[in-house]
Amino acid sequence: MSSDTLTIKGAVLEESGRSTPYADSIPISISELELAPPGESEVRIKILAAGICHSDLSVVNNNRPRPLPMLLGHEASGVVEELGPGVTEFEVGQHVICTFLPRCEECKACKTDGRIPCERGSKANNEGTLLNGDRPLQRDGEVVNHHLGISGFATHVVADVRSLVAVGEDVPPEVAAVLGCAILTGGGALLNEIKPNEDTSLAVVGLGGVGAAAVLTAAALGLKEIVAIDVQDSKRELAKELGCTEAMTPDEAVESGRKFDAVIEAAGHPKALETAYKITGMGGMTVTVGLPAPNSVSEIDPLVLTAEARTLKGSYLGSAVPKVDIPKYEELWREGKLHAEKLISSRIKLEEINEAMDKLDNGLSLRQVIMFD
Ligand SMILES: [Zn+2]
Ligand SMILES: [Zn+2]
Repeated sequence: MSSDTLTIKGAVLEESGRSTPYADSIPISISELELAPPGESEVRIKILAAGICHSDLSVVNNNRPRPLPMLLGHEASGVVEELGPGVTEFEVGQHVICTFLPRCEECKACKTDGRIPCERGSKANNEGTLLNGDRPLQRDGEVVNHHLGISGFATHVVADVRSLVAVGEDVPPEVAAVLGCAILTGGGALLNEIKPNEDTSLAVVGLGGVGAAAVLTAAALGLKEIVAIDVQDSKRELAKELGCTEAMTPDEAVESGRKFDAVIEAAGHPKALETAYKITGMGGMTVTVGLPAPNSVSEIDPLVLTAEARTLKGSYLGSAVPKVDIPKYEELWREGKLHAEKLISSRIKLEEINEAMDKLDNGLSLRQVIMFD
């Protein structure tokens, strides 16, 4: 086992909030970086696939300000290449899924079965470090920040073992990648918050990667009524293929007067939450998983929250404990019930990342996945 610094290639965000199209303003550059060897409770992974998620775009457009420069990417999968001192949780050669919030398993929040994000993990994510405070990446002698404990838009990463979940080698790398963010978040809103049965009527507002993942999970569980709500024609056309029974625009949904037992808001827009709330029925639950811009405001009618005995909940990371939840999705995939591959709209190269951010920004893609050799 070597313990040398490794030269890697990765996608570094230089500045947040540059103008669109990003294909012209090029906020992300492909750089050579030095990756320090894994420390205690860390492993080095060779990345096989990395999906481009709204949480990456949120740093690019400055909706979620983070320390820069930052090597982006968090929805990734790969193979363990080197173990840090004393690591026993994984073996070299094992396939793993990266998740975007490490769980220290010791803080008060970590004792809530996933309901509350880990305190230490959240702090590390905000500061651009690994769970133990390390920043293992450098470029020309300058420290580069970590994204959500992963920095997966790179040939290799060093990550804390608590950011990782083992996965079977039979799961294709791009499917494994989306299990770790889109499916964990969208599926988790359904499994961990709504806890549906087949007769639960479900609407999903916003058919991006996470919303589509909620739909796919609902279809895997055999829900009889799954309605997609999206402003984009192309997304509504896709809805049936994902397993929806119907698709509507937000206006159509509200004007129809239809009410649902459960509604997931996955658009990350204050209006989408208003739509989701309006179409939730008596005793129903509205779950929001989107991350709108800071300081955005939604208007809701508080009377019906009480009078209709409703629930309005926020869910981060699908309220999941990744090492408990991911194996459930893996098994549903293996049984042929969870069609996670339908999330993947294209397979791209690392060098196409700025163009890919434009496509995501324009709502034209579910998951674009960067494939590494
Ligand atoms: Zn993500
Ligand atoms: Zn914790």
